[in-house]
Amino acid sequence: MNVADSRRLATTLEKLGYKITKDLAESDLIILNTCVVRQSAEDKAIGRLSSLKSLKIQKPDLVINLMGCLIGVHGNPAIQKRFPWVDVFSPPSDPSPLLEFLAKQPGKSESEEWRSKIDSIMDEEYSRPEDNESLAVSENIPIVLGCSHACAYCIIPSKRGREISRPFEHIVNEATAYVEHGAKELVLLGQIVDRYGLDLPEKPNLETLLYELSGIPKLRRLRFLTSHPNWMTDGLIDAVAKLPKVMPHIEVPAQAGDDDILKAMRRRYTSLEYRSLIQKIRDRIPNVSIGTDIIVGFPGESIDAFNNTKQLLADLKMDVAHLARYSPRPNTYAARYLADDVPADEKMRRFRELEILQEQISTEINSKVLGQKTSVLFEGKSKRRWRGRNPNNKLVFVDSEENLLGQERDVQITWTGPWSMIGNLI
Ligand code: SF4
Repeated sequence: MNVADSRRLATTLEKLGYKITKDLAESDLIILNTCVVRQSAEDKAIGRLSSLKSLKIQKPDLVINLMGCLIGVHGNPAIQKRFPWVDVFSPPSDPSPLLEFLAKQPGKSESEEWRSKIDSIMDEEYSRPEDNESLAVSENIPIVLGCSHACAYCIIPSKRGREISRPFEHIVNEATAYVEHGAKELVLLGQIVDRYGLDLPEKPNLETLLYELSGIPKLRRLRFLTSHPNWMTDGLIDAVAKLPKVMPHIEVPAQAGDDDILKAMRRRYTSLEYRSLIQKIRDRIPNVSIGTDIIVGFPGESIDAFNNTKQLLADLKMDVAHLARYSPRPNTYAARYLADDVPADEKMRRFRELEILQEQISTEINSKVLGQKTSVLFEGKSKRRWRGRNPNNKLVFVDSEENLLGQERDVQITWTGPWSMIGNLI
């Protein structure tokens, strides 16, 4: 979501004549888009923020904008007081505080043209690329902002606000404009993406959106994330199975495999229900790949509870598992009412145990593709090799002198590892 927000803000600023630079010292405007989902992410943001102070002293006209979850939808007075060298503080997904600041900048605010450009950008209902702009091969489109679920450990609802679905036609217009400007793949984003539309008067849903977007002629691929097990309807699963442009890859976090921990996390499903859903997805979508998220060391996680989670991973054999160690986040139910009682070294031990297990599982799953043909959409180069993804979202590298950017090509896989594959163009 932050990548999508940053991308949209960059597009907005390009309309005002700004250009991206890789040289921090050369910049007139620095935007730090922050994540606080875990303590380590927050610490990193604070570190970067502190390091910008000397630059601001050397260059007082430099504009520094701090945005994202460190500020949140309700603001963060403690952070504003602690970092007085920051000029603008913006909530997640909201460029308007920065635009209002730029509109009043000395030397520019007197210009009619400058003001009217900013006004017209602020009136835009959806992100429109510039006429001459070419977009990345794969672009993200947020379709649901915020979350109203309030899982016990999660800071996102208090930082990104309640769940709001974007209007259906804004998404369709934005998607069409992105494809016209070169995007080949669109990734629809939401904290619970399959709740799309429930808060809108006409009650559209993700399934109907996938059907609509599949009709965009030059669009090659569609993906969506992240799903919640309770909101993956049969209709949605069938849409993924039926629509050739919707890639067979589902991201549906389990978070734990123990019923007591799931209840304490307020996830509102049981381990058995999660297992049944995975079985249903596999039964209905041919060759599907599935990713999950797991948190280890949640308050009250006994060895038995951890082993239940480990067993879930061992039994379900997911393609990918995003693992995290629990850290209490401010103002969450868990931080307020549950003791963080699994010691840090034990959290790390459990994390490593799952990491080793998942590496074995991913290695085994990927090895089945060895020697086979897979279709890869190429997104760019990493060092000398072309990098792309196959329909199952597996990273594939290929050596080629051709310019493969944006091409979808058949590749024969010659090597597989747990996290990527190598192949030759056919
Ligand atoms: S569903 Fe739960 S984990 Fe996901 S964003 Fe909402 S509160 Fe956080």
